[in-house]
Amino acid sequence: MPELPDLEATRSFLNKQLPGVRIDQAQVLIPFVIRVPKEDFVATMEGNAFGDTSRQGKYLLIRLESGHVLAINSMLAGRLQYCPPSEKRRAKTCMVLSLSSGHDLRYVDLRLMGKIYLVREGGLAEIPQFAEMGPDALSPELTEQVFAERLRRHNGQIKNILTNQRFIAGIGNAYSDEILFVAKINPFRKRSTLSDDEVRRLYRSMHDVFAWAGPLIEEATKDELPLEEVRYFMRVHRRGGEPCQVCGNRITDITAGSRVMSFCRHCQT
Ligand SMILES: [Zn+2]
Repeated sequence: MPELPDLEATRSFLNKQLPGVRIDQAQVLIPFVIRVPKEDFVATMEGNAFGDTSRQGKYLLIRLESGHVLAINSMLAGRLQYCPPSEKRRAKTCMVLSLSSGHDLRYVDLRLMGKIYLVREGGLAEIPQFAEMGPDALSPELTEQVFAERLRRHNGQIKNILTNQRFIAGIGNAYSDEILFVAKINPFRKRSTLSDDEVRRLYRSMHDVFAWAGPLIEEATKDELPLEEVRYFMRVHRRGGEPCQVCGNRITDITAGSRVMSFCRHCQT
């Protein structure tokens, strides 16, 4: 699942490629994913031009000259693809935009769980669950104090709270593992048991992990959008059985449904 650093890299890639580029043709191949009627989508997109792309939580927000915003929530497996039109279409290509730059912008989603909305600027609150989203994890307004105050309103295991988009937006399964590892906090700890010092560590670890991962993903996303998340550098997520980089004990993977969570039983208490 793309998370904050993945989407930040996509955002900067799109901001290099898209502004000013015109959409010559819009094709909807799997209408289910596009949350507006196909005819309306095509009519709004064709002849329109791109502005800037921003991000809020796990949404990419691509602005259009007409004042509309294309809001993309990739969920588990959605990917944008920017490629020459001659490139063979991948399975589950849901949308193809043929651009004046000579490229296609495509949306591919093997799980078909992602959602693409087209709303007017100012209409983002119409998107289901968008308005309930907490502040973005990298928002300057999310100070250490605001983070601690918001955290107090949530109960349960800290891993679940970190990935709850109503608490803060942008963190998913993989980065919550990495953040908890750096903060040396066991993912199963109840929020109510965390000390003030641990809450501070959690906040700082979140920033440290993003500051570290961001440039590595940007580097891998320089020339094209990757087919899957760039995760080679992760220290604990899906590293089960490998030695912990800090203490040398084996990292534990726990599978719950389709999700694998990872942590070091020795370092994370
Ligand atoms: Zn360890």
